[in-house]
Amino acid sequence: MKNTGWPKDRGQLFNPERKAYHSGKKLKSCVFCEAKAKKPSFDNLVLYRNSTFMIILNKYPYHIGHMMVMPTKHKGDLWSLTKKEYMLVQLAIRECLAALESEYQCQGLNMGINLGRAAGAGIPDHIHYHLIPRWVGDCNFFPQIAKTRVFTETLEQTYYRLQPRIEKAMRKVK
Ligand SMILES: [Zn+2]
Repeated sequence: MKNTGWPKDRGQLFNPERKAYHSGKKLKSCVFCEAKAKKPSFDNLVLYRNSTFMIILNKYPYHIGHMMVMPTKHKGDLWSLTKKEYMLVQLAIRECLAALESEYQCQGLNMGINLGRAAGAGIPDHIHYHLIPRWVGDCNFFPQIAKTRVFTETLEQTYYRLQPRIEKAMRKVK
């Protein structure tokens, strides 16, 4: 890694695979809409769905328990949701955060949305909130040096661990 420019105290990391993210090419179909078309199961990673919103485990998690909450309808911006839809999504997020905290006994949580490709959205045409449990010191250097993340459980274990809890938590959202 040659460091020729500003800032001199930082290295540079080249990752050409990420180019697809800003090439402007649109995916032919939406993975979230494909997932919602089938009954929730480990196969589609859908933890829960109803007519307004759904909750899906991230196939490429940043950390264990990384899930996404999104409206069921295929929309790329928050203003396409009715007030009621928006409120239900927010209530679902709050219950999911509580479920993650309770299941994983995490010390913190990240919750956020990338609006638009420029903001980092991998699937910008179907808005989705990321929810990630966090622990003090959980970041390590593996992703930077070896493109490898360390997980303490498989996606399948995460799915079956969280699914009943999320199902139950969603009864409170109405
Ligand atoms: Zn979609």
